[in-house]
Amino acid sequence: MRYEFKPVSACNMCGSTDFRFLGMRLSASQGWTPRRAKGIAVPVKRCRACGLVFADPQPIPESLADHYGLPPDEYWIGEAQRHWTPAYLSDEIAEAKRLLDFTPGMKALDVGVGLGKGMRSLAAAGFDAWGIEPSPEFRDHAIAKFDVDPDRVALAAAETAEFPDGHFDFVTFGAVLEHLYDPALALDRAMRWLKPGGILHAEVPSSDYLMSRLLNLFFTLRGTNYVTNISPMHSPFHLYEFTLRSFRKYEVAHHGYMIGVTPHLPKLLTRPVEWLMAWSRTGMQLIVYLRR
Ligand SMILES: [Zn+2]
Repeated sequence: MRYEFKPVSACNMCGSTDFRFLGMRLSASQGWTPRRAKGIAVPVKRCRACGLVFADPQPIPESLADHYGLPPDEYWIGEAQRHWTPAYLSDEIAEAKRLLDFTPGMKALDVGVGLGKGMRSLAAAGFDAWGIEPSPEFRDHAIAKFDVDPDRVALAAAETAEFPDGHFDFVTFGAVLEHLYDPALALDRAMRWLKPGGILHAEVPSSDYLMSRLLNLFFTLRGTNYVTNISPMHSPFHLYEFTLRSFRKYEVAHHGYMIGVTPHLPKLLTRPVEWLMAWSRTGMQLIVYLRR
């Protein structure tokens, strides 16, 4: 893979130029002893104004296919993730319906259709469901295996898709924004696609995640300056982590945190740490509902 390293002149989400250096991130999984791992490392920084975490300089691959050219079966490991159930996205859809004062037939857009499970849930919940998907492999897979209507899924990314202003009642970004080089551009465009009063849902990695902080502390105690935040040059290719303040230019109608998994902990500690994350709002994922 070839990368271009692009210096970051301002925070993508809030425009601030005041960054704090967090540590170095390797281009591969670091394990418990990053000094022994091989790869190149990039500096990771945190915006002092809004808490956005990103690499600076930002490694940008020569071709996006270097990151996302994998066939769907390789990217989504595990049988369970390939099957749709009505529970998929159901909490988020219920919250959106509450915020929208839902009536059947409202128009929804799924950004990053993937295998098509979100669109199926939206349609099952009474939305008029549409989608965009930048990967031809995933779009073909969704059409072939998940009966997604090809006329309803445009082959496009949030940065390039074209819709009229005020077209949708609900836009959902599943795990998308953290993969984009310019998430603020994608958000601004998608907000314009919403009708006034419409709702945009996004789920993103939280830069206040307690487990990342503990792991970073562990690395510090071992005498290295590595950090575990983001993964700009290896799977799952997370380029950003966010806080609620990263979204402050929009009207936040509702937000919450998902605790996520605590795989590195002894069983005895799992419950107390999960409680602590819920109490201190330091779960793995941040979920925001923005209103136009
Ligand atoms: Zn910022």
